[in-house]
Amino acid sequence: MDNCIFCKIIKGEIPTFKIYEDESVLAFLDIKPVNPGHVLLLPKKHFATIEDADTATLEKIGAAFKIIGSRLKERLNIAGYNTYQNNGEVAGQEVPHLHWHFIPRQVGDGLELWHGKSYGEGEVEKIYNLLK
Ligand code: AMP
Repeated sequence: MDNCIFCKIIKGEIPTFKIYEDESVLAFLDIKPVNPGHVLLLPKKHFATIEDADTATLEKIGAAFKIIGSRLKERLNIAGYNTYQNNGEVAGQEVPHLHWHFIPRQVGDGLELWHGKSYGEGEVEKIYNLLK
């Protein structure tokens, strides 16, 4: 996609700190990290969202999850990490090229990513019936 910033990074038109690359995926450091070592993982093919992507691409991403996660744990000596994906503008997706965030975590880093809410009366059953 011509005006996609991540496609430009993939083509080498914009510099970045690449940490992993194969024929299908690329991972690089997020320019505004939530925690140091925050990584973005994306397919080289341009898709906006998960449901747009083909299954083969999602399988490649799945394999890369393990590579990126292991690398973060081994080389940054972190206790764990969050993976996170904003799917659609309403969900906070700013760059419309499918990507996953890997956010390194240390004990006591104070990062709170979300707060759970309770279901209202009869709500969980209604949603369950729609989704099962
Ligand atoms: P999202 O809100 O899920 O679309 O996340 C987009 C992410 O891309 C944000 O965390 C940005 O900091 C990051 N980002 C935007 N431009 C660049 C860039 N040129 N290099 C690295 N990360 C970037």
